[in-house]
Amino acid sequence: MVRKIGVLTSGGDAPGMNAAIRSVTRIALNNGVEVVGVHDGYRGLLEGNFEPLTRHDVSDILDRGGTKLGSARLPEFREEEIQNACVKNMQREGIDALVVIGGDGSYRGALALTKKGINCIGLPGTIDNDIPGTDFTIGFDTALHTCVENVDKLRDTSSSHHRCSIVEVMGNHCGDLALYTAISCGAEMVITPETGYDELEVLEQLRYLGAAVQKNHAIVIISEKICDVDALAKKVSLQTNFSGRATVLGHIQRGGSPTPTDRILASRMGEKAVDLLMEGIGGQCVGIIDNVISAMPIQEALERPRQSRKHLYRLFDRLV
Ligand code: ATP
Repeated sequence: MVRKIGVLTSGGDAPGMNAAIRSVTRIALNNGVEVVGVHDGYRGLLEGNFEPLTRHDVSDILDRGGTKLGSARLPEFREEEIQNACVKNMQREGIDALVVIGGDGSYRGALALTKKGINCIGLPGTIDNDIPGTDFTIGFDTALHTCVENVDKLRDTSSSHHRCSIVEVMGNHCGDLALYTAISCGAEMVITPETGYDELEVLEQLRYLGAAVQKNHAIVIISEKICDVDALAKKVSLQTNFSGRATVLGHIQRGGSPTPTDRILASRMGEKAVDLLMEGIGGQCVGIIDNVISAMPIQEALERPRQSRKHLYRLFDRLV
């Protein structure tokens, strides 16, 4: 029987992590299970940086971005010796199960601990939507709102100046944030790891939009880690009718108050995590698939291909 659940946030922070911490805490406490917050991800397990959580401790965090517990990366956690030290610390503290809110790296850590006898459940917390086993991650919707709000503003100014705005958004090798932003903002072009990148083709397409279609402005949404957007903007200015301007949205995409969609998603996922642990189940990760909260073994999720967005790329092409 589970008596005490630990909860930690690991990897990059995401809006909605606090809502997940609150959900895990409230639902566990309401079931007579104690909760311990672990500070700074797996580092907190190693250093014994624990904080018992009451229902009051998670008041007033539902609407806050970031994570109350802090997040960190601990590369050494891949080593068995370090994992054993963490297990000892948890046993000393009486923690017999753990909820890990983070990305796929954090899931691997959760799987390792489960194999060592501490049941762990992973919740997908990242703005990148790059975690298999779920249609959406906690934080994605909020980041999408931030992107859309900012691109809408760029559109106002670029349409007044015959500009081509090239906007780089996050995604960590996943094109979802760029694709969803591009559809939401009526962009002229979207470039992601899934579409591939051919600079000559991009310039050719912009020449066509400027000359043949006589577009007054153009918005290009591009995923991070694809090209140097400043260099591309310069080429746009030199080789097309548009004046090219690059904007890197950067870390503002990670911040802000979570949207209601993220708050609800995090609350539902937190509930599922506690329910699984109370049933004595570990080594699983929680996802939302076709709007149903579900769980699957972490190993299986890590081996799965990500959800295909082919239909949305097709929609984007038909809307341009
Ligand atoms: P994000 O998507 O934001 O990068 P993430 O959870 O994938 O989140 P990582 O830096 O990959 O971020 O992993 C977070 C932490 O999880 C690492 O610092 C490490 O402590 C632990 N971790 C990562 N990979 C493993 C692994 N193979 N085995 C055990 N622990 C791991």
